[in-house]
Amino acid sequence: MGLRVVVVGIPGVGKTTVVDMLVAGFKGAKLANFGTIMFEAGLSQKLVKNRDEMRKLPVEKQKRLQKFAATKIANMRERLVVVDTHLFIRTPEGFWPGLPFDVVRAMKPTHLVLVEATPEEIAKRRSSDTTRYRDAVTKDSLTEELALARSFLTVSSTLTGAPISIVRNAQGKQEQVALGLAKMLEKASP
Ligand code: AMP
Ligand code: MG
Repeated sequence: MGLRVVVVGIPGVGKTTVVDMLVAGFKGAKLANFGTIMFEAGLSQKLVKNRDEMRKLPVEKQKRLQKFAATKIANMRERLVVVDTHLFIRTPEGFWPGLPFDVVRAMKPTHLVLVEATPEEIAKRRSSDTTRYRDAVTKDSLTEELALARSFLTVSSTLTGAPISIVRNAQGKQEQVALGLAKMLEKASP
């Protein structure tokens, strides 16, 4: 089996941009966008009409979609599988783990990457992204979410034995971040 990198970060850190660049620049890499896989299943089951409705579903329904995506990703066998996903989801029932025990163990990540940005950068990206229905937030709640992400991250690392990298995605630095990750993964590649 090849490398399996799980890339996480709170909404608005620029995770998807970095992940897409990494996949485009790495030979034999395949993208696994966890939200997209869940959404396609949710759409065909007529549970939701857009991807931002999923986090408002009853958690029990979200769990089924989550399990479906995890199983699909667990079966991917490319040289490098890059998973774009979340450590936790803000649901009406509370913060819910994106990588609970069974899910993260099934995906067998070799590396965990947390993408971060400043609360100012995140707020700006969220409000300017008209393609999404992002939650409105204050600077304080973003600071809290960033801290919560780091604590969920250490749990995933301990459950899987995968090392963690924390990368800062400053405005305009996406390409540099993607290149840095590619370099690390090339060296780690068997
Ligand atoms: P994204 O496009 O990465 O913001 O993901 C869209 C949506 O997919 C999220 O708001 C969640 O509802 C769902 N999602 C993504 N990853 C996970 C996960 N690991 N567990 C549960 N839901 C997820
Ligand atoms: Mg995204």
